[in-house]
Amino acid sequence: MRKIQMVDLKSQYEKIKDTVNASIQEVLDTTTYINGPLVHEFQKNMETYLGVKHVIPCANGTDALQIAMMGLGLKPGDEVITADFTFAATVEVIALLQLTPVLVDVDLDNMNISIEAIKKAITPKTKAIVPVHLFGQVANMEAIMEIAKEHNLYVIEDNAQAIGANYTFADGSKKKVGAIGHVSSTSFFPSKNLGCYGDGGAIFTNDDALAHQIRGIVNHGMYVRYHHDVVGVNSRLDSIQAAVLNAKLPKLDQYNSARRDAAS
Ligand SMILES: *Cc1c(COP(=O)(O)O)cnc(C)c1O
Repeated sequence: MRKIQMVDLKSQYEKIKDTVNASIQEVLDTTTYINGPLVHEFQKNMETYLGVKHVIPCANGTDALQIAMMGLGLKPGDEVITADFTFAATVEVIALLQLTPVLVDVDLDNMNISIEAIKKAITPKTKAIVPVHLFGQVANMEAIMEIAKEHNLYVIEDNAQAIGANYTFADGSKKKVGAIGHVSSTSFFPSKNLGCYGDGGAIFTNDDALAHQIRGIVNHGMYVRYHHDVVGVNSRLDSIQAAVLNAKLPKLDQYNSARRDAAS
């Protein structure tokens, strides 16, 4: 019996070897390991690709979720509704920030958070909903954004498994997932749709004030050099990872359609 590789990183690398190697070599030659020009270039490339105003690269997808929640100013005791069927990180960061995770069921037709279940779980303490676009399938964002508006809640998209997916609204307009909620997170773990060669992640938002807040949080709460205004974290995307991502981003749509072909 032939073993089928779930994600074949080796043969993917063989096809882009020259571009990736040259891009990594540029980092080595310029010694711009942290916050180098390639990180900035990746940020811009990603903003254009997603059609989102701000991309803030960070160290991994788990940090991205945590920082998004910190940026929104969620406080201990605030209730955050999310799906009971997701990777542990989604719930882990909610617990870590001493927020209260409220796990609700998924719909069996797409394994994403159930709209009816969200409605039933809302209390006066609810502050946010975290839909997880699992296995590349997009949660019912239009209904989720409507509920959020009605109850004045934030929507944080966990987009670690669906980067590149499109969402079609009832009026026929389309948006990339991750550009719909108030803030979104993704992971560039090697086996994800857009993977680097180590750990990486990013936060997306169209909100200028929130983007500013988050840019400080990823960098020790620092907005002016050595002035630490809020409690932050150290969560950066290495330049070498940005070099890999710059080489792979133009191929993301192709990678996603190859996954769909393999699945069918
Ligand atoms: C992979 C994943 C994460 C965490 O990403 P890391 O980069 O591994 O920290 C979060 N949520 C979901 C749904 C994931 O699949």
